[in-house]
Amino acid sequence: MPRFPNSAGERNLHSPTVAQLYRPAKAILTNTSCLQALNHFLGDGDLYALPVVDHLDIAHTLIDRHNFVEFFSRPFIREVHGKKSIANFMAHRPSGFKFSAPIIVDAGTSIDDVAQIIIGAGMQHMVSGFIVTRDNKYAGVANGHDLLNEITQRKQAELYYLAHHDQLTGIPNRMLFTDRLTQACREAMRLGTLVGLMFVDLDRFKQVNDSMGHRFGDQLLRAVTERLSACARDCDTVARLGGDEFAILIDNLKHADDADTFAQRIVDSMRQPFQVMGRELIISLSIGIAIYPRDDTEVGALLSKADAAMYEVKANGRNGFRAYIPGLSMYSLERMSLETDLRNALDNGELVLHYQPQVSLLNDQVVGVEALVRWQHARHGLISPAHFIPIAEESGQIIAIGKWILRQACVQHRAWLEIHQTPLRMAVNISALQFRQADFSREVRSIIDETGMDPYFLELELTESIVMQDVGTVLDTLQDLKQLGVRLAIDDFGTGFSSLSYLRRFPIDRLKIDQSFVRGIEQMPVNESIVRAIAALARSLSLEITAEGTETEAELALVRECKCNEAQGHRFARPMPAQEFLAWLDSYKRDYVIRDFFEPYAAALG
Ligand code: C2E
Ligand code: MG
Ligand code: MG
Repeated sequence: MPRFPNSAGERNLHSPTVAQLYRPAKAILTNTSCLQALNHFLGDGDLYALPVVDHLDIAHTLIDRHNFVEFFSRPFIREVHGKKSIANFMAHRPSGFKFSAPIIVDAGTSIDDVAQIIIGAGMQHMVSGFIVTRDNKYAGVANGHDLLNEITQRKQAELYYLAHHDQLTGIPNRMLFTDRLTQACREAMRLGTLVGLMFVDLDRFKQVNDSMGHRFGDQLLRAVTERLSACARDCDTVARLGGDEFAILIDNLKHADDADTFAQRIVDSMRQPFQVMGRELIISLSIGIAIYPRDDTEVGALLSKADAAMYEVKANGRNGFRAYIPGLSMYSLERMSLETDLRNALDNGELVLHYQPQVSLLNDQVVGVEALVRWQHARHGLISPAHFIPIAEESGQIIAIGKWILRQACVQHRAWLEIHQTPLRMAVNISALQFRQADFSREVRSIIDETGMDPYFLELELTESIVMQDVGTVLDTLQDLKQLGVRLAIDDFGTGFSSLSYLRRFPIDRLKIDQSFVRGIEQMPVNESIVRAIAALARSLSLEITAEGTETEAELALVRECKCNEAQGHRFARPMPAQEFLAWLDSYKRDYVIRDFFEPYAAALG
C-alpha cells in the first residue's frame, strides 16, 4: 500500500511561504475522497501525485508535462478537467513518472504569484509536476522549471509589446517605427519602389497642455491618433515618437507626389473640431516629408530630413506640410552653439556631479548614491543631462566627459570615506559610446587604481540598449568588468527590449525599473503587475531591484509591496551637490532614528 503524503512533498508544503500565504495543502491531503482516489492508483515510489481537484477537492485528473503545456497556454481550463480519468492516466503514464505533492493556490491567483510560491517553496528546479487547481477556476501547473520558462517567455512578449508601443495611444513607438522604416527601405531597394516618411508635429500643443491640463492633453493626443490612423491605409504605419510628435510610414509609394496628397488630406482632416472632455477645439499640425531613396538612403538621415522639413513648416507659420529639399538646415542654431560650448565645458570646470540617494526598502537606510552630471553653463544656467548628453554622444565628446565623471565620482567616494566610515555604493551612468570603446574595462581599472576606489562600492549603470547589441562582445566586456570587482546595473529597465534569456547569462547585479512604470503605479494596475513581474523575475535570477523615480508615499508603499529591494526618487531627495548631500544624509539619519526608535516610545507614553 503506498504511503501518502510523501516526505519530499511535505517539506515543500510546509515551507513558510506557502503555509503562510495559502491554505495549507494538508487540507486536501486529508480529504478522504481525494486520498482514496490517489491511494487506489499510486504505485510504489517516493514521490506522489499531482491531482487536479474540483470544488469538492476530489482529484479527477493527474497532470503530465504534456498536459501542462496545453493547459497553461489557455487562460481557463475547465475543458481540460476530466479529459483523462486517473485510471486512464495511470494506466498509460510513462514509466518512471514521479509525482510530488500538490500546492494549492486560490482561484484567481496570478501567474506571477504562482511563480513566487514556487520560488518561495524552493521548487523551481523540480522536474515532476506539482501544482493544482481549486474551484475549477484556476489551474496551476506542472513543473517549476517549465513554469518559470513559460513566465520568462510571457514577460518577454509583454516587455516586447511595451517596448514597441506607445503606452498612451497603443500605436507603435519610435523603436518599432524605425524598425519598420528600415524594413520598408530594404524592400523598396529590392523592388525599386519609393517609401514616404512623414514627421507630424501638433502646433501649440504645449499651450493646450499647460492651459487645459495633462488629462485633456492625453485625450487630445488619443483623438489625433485616431484621426491620423483614419487617413492612413492599412499598410501604412502611424507611430507616436513622443510628446506631440508622430510619424507616418507610407509604404510602397508610386510617386513622390502621392505623399503630398496624403499630407494634404491629413492637414484637411484637422479642420473638423475635436470634442475632448466636453469641449470643442481645433488644432493644426505641421508635416515634413522625406522620400526614400530620393532624399537619402540611410534611415537616420532620412528621419533628420523629414524633421528638418517639418521645422521649416513651423518656421513659416505652421499648419501645413512641405517636402525636404537639399539645403534645408539640419541643425538648429541652439544645438550648434551648445555643441561648441560643450567642447570647453570640461576645461572650464563647468561640469558638476550631483548625487541622489538610493534607499534600502528592507530597513530604510541610505545604501548608495547615483552620480548625475549637470552642466553649469555660463549663459544658460544649469543644463540637464537629458539635454546635453545626447549632443555629447553624437559628437563623441562623451568619451572624455564620461571618463571625467567616473573619476570624479570615485574621488568623491574617497573623500566621503574620510568623513563617514560606512561606505555608500556609488552608481555611475555609462553611455553607449563609452562602453563600446575597445579598452573600456582597462580605463575603469586605471581610474580605480588611480583614485584608490574600492571597486566593490562602484556600480556601473548601463542601459538595456547597450547590453542588447552585439551580445558576444558585450558579454566579454561585462565579464572583464566583473573581474575588476565592480557591480553592474541595467538602467531604465523595461523600456528597451531586453532578451530575458540574455539577462540570465549576463553577470548583472541589479535592474533599475524605469520611472515610467513607477509613476502613479498605485493607480495603474498594469504598471503594478509589470513591476511585480520584473521583481519576481529578478529575484529568481538573484538580481537586486531598484524602483526609479519613486516620488510619492503611495508609490513607495506599492514598490515596497512589490518587493523591490531599493527605491530612488524625489520621495527621498532630488539629486544634490556633494556638500548638500552630506547635510541631507545627516538629517535623514536623525529622522530615521527618531521615527524608528523614539516614536514607538512616544506613542506608548501617549
Ligand atoms: P537616469 O540614469 O535614469 O537617472 C535618473 C534621472 O531621473 C535623473 O535625471 C534624476 O534626477 C531623475 N529622477 C530621480 N528621481 C526622480 C523622481 O522621483 N521623479 C522624476 N521625475 N525624476 C527623478 P537627470 O539627472 O536629469 O538625468 C537624466 C538622464 O541623463 C539619466 O537618467 C542618465 O541617463 C543621463 N545621465 C545623467 N548623468 C549622467 C552621467 O553622468 N553620464 C551619462 N552617460 N549619462 C548621465
Ligand atoms: Mg542611471
Ligand atoms: Mg534610469
